[in-house]
Amino acid sequence: YNRQRLLVVANRLPVSAVRRGEDSWSLEISAGGLVSALLGVKEFEARWIGWAGVNVPDEVGQKALTKALAEKRCIPVFLDEEIVHQYYNGYCNNILWPLFHYLGLPQEDRLATTRSFQSQFAAYKKANQMFADVVNEHYEEGDVVWCHDYHLMFLPKCLKEYNSKMKVGWFLHTPFPSSEIHRTLPSRSELLRSVLAADLVGFHTYDYARHFVSACTRILGIEGTPEGVEDQGKLTRVAAFPIGIDSERFIRALEVPDVIQHMKELKERFAGRKVMLGVDRLDMIKGIPQKILAFEKFLEENANWRDKVVLLQIAVPTRTDVPEYQKLTSQVHEIVGRINGRFGTLTAVPIHHLDRSLDFYALCALYAVTDVALVTSLRDGMNLVSYEFVACQESKKGVLILSEFAGAAQSLGAGAILVNPWNITEVAASIGQALNMSPEEREKRHRHNFHHVKTHTAQEWAETFVSELNDTVIEAQLRI
Ligand code: UDP
Repeated sequence: YNRQRLLVVANRLPVSAVRRGEDSWSLEISAGGLVSALLGVKEFEARWIGWAGVNVPDEVGQKALTKALAEKRCIPVFLDEEIVHQYYNGYCNNILWPLFHYLGLPQEDRLATTRSFQSQFAAYKKANQMFADVVNEHYEEGDVVWCHDYHLMFLPKCLKEYNSKMKVGWFLHTPFPSSEIHRTLPSRSELLRSVLAADLVGFHTYDYARHFVSACTRILGIEGTPEGVEDQGKLTRVAAFPIGIDSERFIRALEVPDVIQHMKELKERFAGRKVMLGVDRLDMIKGIPQKILAFEKFLEENANWRDKVVLLQIAVPTRTDVPEYQKLTSQVHEIVGRINGRFGTLTAVPIHHLDRSLDFYALCALYAVTDVALVTSLRDGMNLVSYEFVACQESKKGVLILSEFAGAAQSLGAGAILVNPWNITEVAASIGQALNMSPEEREKRHRHNFHHVKTHTAQEWAETFVSELNDTVIEAQLRI
């Protein structure tokens, strides 16, 4: 029996590639959410198509890398430096990312961005066409093609132009903003029409799906139906598919001797103090300054807690070459320094801020010893950190304080304390509520969330999306 082939197309391949010689490469699989989701899917034979994250100008290098990647079921798309600059740094990260998270265009170079918009969009389309060429080259009849994220909104249209019979799905990992935001994009219509060329369009939450449908109605004048969007008899199915995590991987990790040892050290290190934890990429959308200011307010108002609680903030560096992000980094450092100066003693400080990433085991140990996790995203597609924390809390049953602007608020809202991260008074009060919560209430809240995280896995997410895509195509054929 032949499994159906699944072509997963994403901007980045799930590997990091380092060149060792003229024709030799060393590859390392990076275990992101999408990778572990699809590793678990046994029904399909998955292949990855994407950019390897390195510039390979010479043919010898390209051939060698293609060959090495083939062993990992990966197929590279080669993008040169200029395209990466305009498509990836420019259109994707400078325009779509902030807009989809309601941040507006970067303040510093708003006019410059506006001026270079057309050339960046042209590069975006060109890059998407390059992805389409590679997909088309490897496509076999019956394959399912699953396009991922805001980098590839132009891809469904390119693919359908090659072959209208190709089964094409597109999934967005970020929020889709209100149509009032989307309509400020000069390329608003082209992007929507291209996404609509897909058979199935998926989002993390109903709100994002609804925003997309109303953008189609208001901007394109196309009607929404309960199933999706219908244009001249052609239906594009639009639905919510909330992603999950490989919860068992986290649960199993807590039994690894190294992790147990690490947990023991952390417990000793912070004995007598409650541990609060933040884990975020150092991005504007994560609301890290807001979180730290709320913690300060809590310490200000609760003198009795000052030597009994510590906030550990892991801030993973990202886009460190971009001035806006450098500014955020120094802003956070300044606030942390001020608060530690204000409330620290000769032997202890209230905030430990780390500008680095942790390996998987260290992260699991940290999740497991935490009393209160603080997720204060100003906007966040889903936020997997909140899921990972819950998965590691079976013995501790700690509290999750979660921003109502994270997609996860839709699924973990019943067990978490939901907050508006802009309201520092409210977040400070929630910190107090969480630290003082009775064991019975913690247990009850944890049960809710743990059950959700265990049953809504990444694997189930991927299977649901792909089978829905298959069904959508069959139904469309029956309608003709
Ligand atoms: N993460 C990691 N190392 C770290 C901190 C975080 O690998 O030191 C991972 C974390 O386990 C999670 C991901 O980074 O899977 C963050 O995903 P999330 O959806 O929370 O936010 P994103 O960074 O995608 O916006």
